[in-house]
Amino acid sequence: MKNNLNLVPFVSVENMMRLVLEIGVETALEEISSYIEADFCRWPLFDKTPRVASHSYDGVIELMPTSDGIDYGFKYVNGHPKNMKDGLQTVTAFGLLASVDTGYPVLLSEMTILTALRTAATSALATKYLARKGARTLALIGNGAQSEFQALAMKRICGIDTVRLYDIDMDATRKCARNLEDTGLTVVPCTTPQMAIEGADVVTTCTADKQYATILTDNMVGPGLHINGIGGDCPGKTEIHRDILLRSDIFVEYPPQTRIEGDIQQLDDTHAVKELWQVLTGEIEGRENDRAITLFDGVGFAIEDFSALRWLRDALEHSNQFEQLDMIADPDDPRDLFGMVLREKTRMA
Ligand code: NAD
Repeated sequence: MKNNLNLVPFVSVENMMRLVLEIGVETALEEISSYIEADFCRWPLFDKTPRVASHSYDGVIELMPTSDGIDYGFKYVNGHPKNMKDGLQTVTAFGLLASVDTGYPVLLSEMTILTALRTAATSALATKYLARKGARTLALIGNGAQSEFQALAMKRICGIDTVRLYDIDMDATRKCARNLEDTGLTVVPCTTPQMAIEGADVVTTCTADKQYATILTDNMVGPGLHINGIGGDCPGKTEIHRDILLRSDIFVEYPPQTRIEGDIQQLDDTHAVKELWQVLTGEIEGRENDRAITLFDGVGFAIEDFSALRWLRDALEHSNQFEQLDMIADPDDPRDLFGMVLREKTRMA
């Protein structure tokens, strides 16, 4: 990928779809997961802050910045559960990578698809380290936009071969089952969450509802289960009953953000949680035994988006699926910005 400083590579939705199909969805998920793993293993290097959230009655708009001192990245993302009823996405996003050295942007991209990929890659990474060895069956509760990505990441990265689907809307379950045909997964549509969770080694909840919901109740969760709670990601928006949290070993991305947004907002701020990056570096133990209940309270952290953008920049080295955007005013004489505007007059004439 050529980078003329004033032309910024831009990946549109169309180009992102084509790039992902070129690479293969499962390969892209595996590659993004390895970029996230590598960045989590150098966690202390990064600037970290809870994301900046602007809340409204129906949703939230958030900015997610971070830097490793060489690159800087941010994502703009929204979360509006009521959008789906109006035919709009619950979550949309775009983001940017920049050079810390010059401050110039080096990549601008759609991130609605990239967020689904990186969220699935992160759930699978957590599951790889926290689920019981030999886990094969996933219960996937909430069969919306994120769901197929979640299923395929679990297949490729964790060896899941069976997915049990449940959604309050059977049309969502039918859509998900249809999209997972021919992927090699055994797909079992279920009519209740209890049925979905039967025999599951791993449960991922990815529902969208702006309330303290109870997708999983205490009696549904037996010993040895690993849970990824993905949809509880905003103040007043949770999925997992508090009693389950009290029985679980809880793993999070960045505690100051998760305590505000995650399912653990239901617990005291002093309740012990473990940081996933420390499990990846081997500094702390993940699963303690086969009977432990492990919970990854995933809210989505800026470093995962940074990793996804790094992956994208590298992937574009071998692909033409991008355009060049004229988005940096960069006159030959850096002080003559005004002269550059005047000179455009003659070109317009
Ligand atoms: P979506 O609106 O496309 O799908 C959500 C699905 O949940 C819908 O099909 C809906 O019918 C279903 N649902 C709602 N209440 C339910 C219930 N009680 N039981 C079962 N199903 C129920 O949304 P999406 O884009 O798939 O996102 C899912 C959730 O994940 C959202 O809450 C979103 O904010 C969150 N999310 C989190 C991350 C992260 O990094 N943690 C990233 C992206 C999205």
